[in-house]
Amino acid sequence: MAPSPGTRLGPYEILSLLGSGGMGEVYRARDTRLERVVAIKVLPAAVTVSPQTLERFQREARAASALNHPNICTIYDVGADPPFIAMELLEGETLQQRLTRGPLDVAVLVDAALAVADALDTAHSQGIVHRDIKPANIFLTARGPKILDFGLAKASTEPDALDVTAQATRTAAARLTDPG
Ligand code: ATP
Ligand code: MG
Repeated sequence: MAPSPGTRLGPYEILSLLGSGGMGEVYRARDTRLERVVAIKVLPAAVTVSPQTLERFQREARAASALNHPNICTIYDVGADPPFIAMELLEGETLQQRLTRGPLDVAVLVDAALAVADALDTAHSQGIVHRDIKPANIFLTARGPKILDFGLAKASTEPDALDVTAQATRTAAARLTDPG
């Protein structure tokens, strides 16, 4: 069942729905301990049953929480029942939403691209590959872009972490992503 306003998830009180996607619903919520507003991503009830989806969800939290960069959305906390991730609440809109209103100014675009590239470089240097970089996963705030959803991220300490062929082979073995 989707949490409604007032629902408690551990110390978090759900305030309102921010949006939804293939892997979950994102809510505005209040952290009652720290008295701050956060974003909470909850797996939709329909997919909670799949252990693979659960593993993928937890992988997002693990991968993203290992990263500390101004252009990567900060993970604060995880919960298990129902599975959720508490993260930094961002103000703004996704690049996908922004692009429906027309093209970006070139200078703004170049600044955003450099910031995203620097964030990915940081992740790659820690052996974490995002694997789902797209406009819906780049959130534009007044202070620059933030990468969302390290949900498909693959952590690897092997030297061929960025070798697409080797990675595809290992991924198939890990069976954590679906074909297509
Ligand atoms: P996908 O399943 O491919 O990731 P998606 O990115 O559209 O699809 P979600 O990641 O579930 O879906 O996010 C849904 C929406 O919630 C986003 O489009 C965004 O507008 C909003 N959102 C996500 N994370 C945050 C956040 N930390 N702060 C504010 N809004 C957020
Ligand atoms: Mg997303």
